[in-house]
Order: sequence, then structure tokens, then C-alpha cells
Amino acid sequence: METPKITDDGTELEKHIDAIKRLKQERHALVLCHTYQRPEIHLIADIVGDSYALSLAATKTTHPIIVFCGVHFMAETAKILNPSKKVLLPTLDAGCGLAETITANGVRAWKAQYPGLPLVLYINSPAAVKAEADIICTSTNTLKAVEAAYGETVLLAPDKNLYYNTQPKTRKKLIPWEGYCPVHKAMSVDMLEYAMMLHPDAEVIVHPECNPDVTALAHAVLSTSGMVDYVKASSKNEFIIGTELGLVQMIQRMFPEKKVYPFTEVSKTCDNSCVCPYMKAVTIEKVRQALEKDRYEIAVPEEIRIKALAALQRMLLLGRDT
Ligand code: SF4
Repeated sequence: METPKITDDGTELEKHIDAIKRLKQERHALVLCHTYQRPEIHLIADIVGDSYALSLAATKTTHPIIVFCGVHFMAETAKILNPSKKVLLPTLDAGCGLAETITANGVRAWKAQYPGLPLVLYINSPAAVKAEADIICTSTNTLKAVEAAYGETVLLAPDKNLYYNTQPKTRKKLIPWEGYCPVHKAMSVDMLEYAMMLHPDAEVIVHPECNPDVTALAHAVLSTSGMVDYVKASSKNEFIIGTELGLVQMIQRMFPEKKVYPFTEVSKTCDNSCVCPYMKAVTIEKVRQALEKDRYEIAVPEEIRIKALAALQRMLLLGRDT
């Protein structure tokens, strides 16, 4: 997905960018942008990062308005951390296929089957589920969160591939929830093997939300920020990267001297495109409208926010694994 000159509504990209820059100043708004966002969204962002980095940024801002260019659970997280600030999500279509696999009622019933066990919860979950967790983690610090949880047996939700990736690294017993990210689950071992045949000298880096048969073939399994650091530090010149296309494109822009291939190069079907439709629901027009029309404001009930905040703060104390 190259940066377009003309946007979906037929207007020039530059006009939207200029308007957004002016609105940001007038309204003292901070724009946070997840790495999976469209390239043109990166251009108007104040901070670009993964879930962990953006959560951290949300704790430090003095801006009264945060425009969250990401998905719903991320904007909720920003609101949990900043209850006095206005948090805007440019479109309510920006959900998350993984977060939708878990509900507060579902997780309460699951916990009841394992009385007394701590719940480590991946940040890709609704606020009401975070309120049920002992500690939140991201793909940067899952192992640290598991090790920090009390006891020798730990519930880990909602991504089962994160469980497959973490269990071999700890002596604790993990009990997984049956959830998946549909985007990473669609990245098959066939796609990877074909990419490896085309690029036999490339290092393979994949996200821990990928399937175990894919991670088994990788040189490294890393969070999105870990991937950027890895490519930067490596003396290698070719990489196959297994995660959402927006991050692959960002790495291509950051390191133009290196050859960086997505899985999608070998399969252009919709199901295997490596594009998250939720992340791409945020467009430059919608970011402008968010600032012009104050939409869509994210709210989290206070009793949920207080409980979710405690679990999030435990995560922020941990720092990163990778
Ligand atoms: S890639 Fe999309 S569906 Fe998958 S976890 Fe991220 S936001 Fe959710």
C-alpha cells in the first residue's frame, strides 16, 4: 500500500494533511498512530509505535485531546490511563478480530473454573475484560508478565498463539484461552515456505501472534518494535517479515537499503493479504473529521476503568522483554 496522492473521497492528500496539522495546533491534540496504520496516517502522527509504546505515550501527554489512530481497545487503553482527557477514535469500524474473541462474562466463567489462578491478559482485549485481569501484557513483555504473576500456574488470554510462543520459555504452566488474531493466523506455513524459496538468503522474522508451524521456521519471533530493532541492528540485508503489512511498509521506508519482503508477496488473495481491515478502517479523511467534529469519543465506565488501570499499571512497571 503506497502512500496515495488522492484519497478515497477524491480530494488531495496534501489538503487533508495541512488541515489536520492546523487542527492539531488549534485544538492542542496529540495524534498517536499504531505501526499497522496506513502510510499517510504515519505522516500526520506525533508518535508512531506499538501497543506498549503508545500506552506509555498516553501516560505522559499533557495534551487535552488524544486522537488514537489504531483500534478500539487501544483508544480505550488511552482513556483508562487518561480519564481527564478526550480520547477520539476516528471510526467505530476499527475493532479487533482478536479482542472480539473474549467477553467479560466469558472470562469470568473461565476464571471460575480455575479458582485462585492469576490472569495475564494480552492488551488486545476490551476494557471490561481488562478489569478482570491481574496483569496486562503486550507482545513485548508477555514472558515478564507471566513470571511476575503469582503462583506456578497462570491463565493466559486471549491469543492462543501467544501461549504457544510463551510456554516453552517458562517453567510455569500456562492455561490458554482459545482466541486468535485472524490476520496473523492467515499467514500460513505454505506462504512462508514459498517466500523462503524465493529469498533463500533472507532472515525470517515473525510476530508471536503467528501460528506455531510458522514461528518454528523463523530466525526470530519478535514484537513489532522488536522487529524494527532487529532489522536495524542486523548485518543481513534481506528479511521476510510476518506481520501486518503496515509494519512491513514502515520498515521498508526506514531501511531503504535493505530488502524487506512481506508474506503477501506470494499470495494476493483477500484472506492472505496480511492487511488488517480494522486498522485500515482509519483513513486520513476520518482523522480530519475526528478533529473537526470531535468524534468518536471513547468512554469507559469508572468502575471498569479503576480495575483495568490497576492491571495496566502493573504492566507498565514491568518494561519490555524485547
Ligand atoms: S492485526 Fe488487527 S485483528 Fe489482529 S490483533 Fe491487530 S488489530 Fe486485532
